[in-house]
Amino acid sequence: QRIVVRDLASRLGVSAAELIKQLMRQNVMATITQEIPFEVAAAVAERFGFTVQRPKSSEERFLEELQQAARQPAQLVPRPPVVTIMGHVDHGKTTLLDVIRQTRVAAQEYGGITQHIGAYQVETQGRLITFLDTPGHEAFTAMRARGAQVTDIAVLVVAADDGVMPQTIEAINHARAAEVPIIVAINKIDKPTANPDRVKQQLSEHGLVPEEWGGETVMVPVSALRKEGIDELLEMILLVADLRELRAPVDRPASGIVVEAQLDRGRGPVATVLIKEGVLKVGDPVIVGAVPGRVRALMDDKGQQRQEAGPSTPIVVLGLQDVPQPGDLLMVTPDEETARRIAEERAQRQRAEQLRPTARMTLESLSRMAAEGEARDLHIVLKADVQGSLEALQQALEQLSGDQVRVNVIHAAVGAISEADVNLAASSGAVIIGFNVRPDANARRAAEREQIDVRTYRIIYEVVDDVKAAMQGLLKPRI
Ligand code: GDP
Repeated sequence: QRIVVRDLASRLGVSAAELIKQLMRQNVMATITQEIPFEVAAAVAERFGFTVQRPKSSEERFLEELQQAARQPAQLVPRPPVVTIMGHVDHGKTTLLDVIRQTRVAAQEYGGITQHIGAYQVETQGRLITFLDTPGHEAFTAMRARGAQVTDIAVLVVAADDGVMPQTIEAINHARAAEVPIIVAINKIDKPTANPDRVKQQLSEHGLVPEEWGGETVMVPVSALRKEGIDELLEMILLVADLRELRAPVDRPASGIVVEAQLDRGRGPVATVLIKEGVLKVGDPVIVGAVPGRVRALMDDKGQQRQEAGPSTPIVVLGLQDVPQPGDLLMVTPDEETARRIAEERAQRQRAEQLRPTARMTLESLSRMAAEGEARDLHIVLKADVQGSLEALQQALEQLSGDQVRVNVIHAAVGAISEADVNLAASSGAVIIGFNVRPDANARRAAEREQIDVRTYRIIYEVVDDVKAAMQGLLKPRI
């Protein structure tokens, strides 16, 4: 929205010269015939004593309508759990995903061939389970960093011969930060060197105590290679899902999260969307992130055309005007015009936001908040060069917790600061502290993009001093 200076002057009842002078005082150089943006016009109008009412954007109006609709009692139906497989490299995540798909997707039944669309559904005991096809906590946390959480249950794969490894611990911490329950699949039990008890022992040290030892974590021995224990694992997933009472409203405009998207030569932009609420139908006008469209066709993970898709269903959506990003939210709009206008507003906002820094948690911002008596809890991702320093630091930092501010080390590990660490910090509002380690190139880029406070130290008491100072509102800004 823009307005010509002359028109604004006449609406305000002041001369154009006066208006231009006032604009100059606000560092805006404009001529009488020039157009100025709404924000500038509003600011100058306020100087002349007017109060400005901003017209609601299409998006605001749309969201208000949605909220109003959400206040009506909804018809909740049970929905399948959405599962992500995590674990250390080579512990069998991919093999397990493939085996579950092969043994459980009855392709013949549909006369279709299984398609890799980023997620798939299997049927067990007459019930469905949705699996995300990208294993690992990196993708999981990258989505979370974008504000999208789709996973209900994490299956942590640990090889029985190898035991708990660094990425196993990383996965545990990432799942915990997201408050997603963990089921352990102790894999490769066919191997002569397999030692499931040792795995249980190691996991217990990280707070995952098996049920048979009085704990709460479900652990299932499996062999992905020999297809053993798969039914039991699926059964346990359903059991844990039942405890969570997963439900979704169906009588609402549909929404979902993009898990994968690309440009297809023949079909144009295609996006796999995991439906969260409502039922998406062919013909629905949609907005996906900043991309508008109308659903031209829906395709499931068996390559079959579908007329509609309900909660927890992964579905390929055709008919978008551009390729959205994983983590983008899809929403059905009342009409195509609304979708188009929201897309425009969002694109504009994205351009504006690229120029403006966002407010992330930093030690400095914590210090400012503490000084104003508004301290928040401090989440820390801690990386160090050796286990000894890591433990010493974690202890020293957590001991700083007081009534005002709690210090919470959400992830502590030996090694360089990685992109996964940055994503974890971004999705959990944490700062990163490195002791005798630095961020690698990818992590540095990601930290810059996400504006994460990454601090590196060589002396333990300096770490403790800085965090303490920040908690007390006394941290001196870095030069
Ligand atoms: P990912 O990196 O976690 O995805 O691991 P992969 O699924 O690629 O598996 C790594 C290796 O372990 C491959 O050579 C698999 O064949 C092997 N593997 C996976 N599951 C089993 C199993 O249950 N038993 C045995 N013996 N090998 C397995």
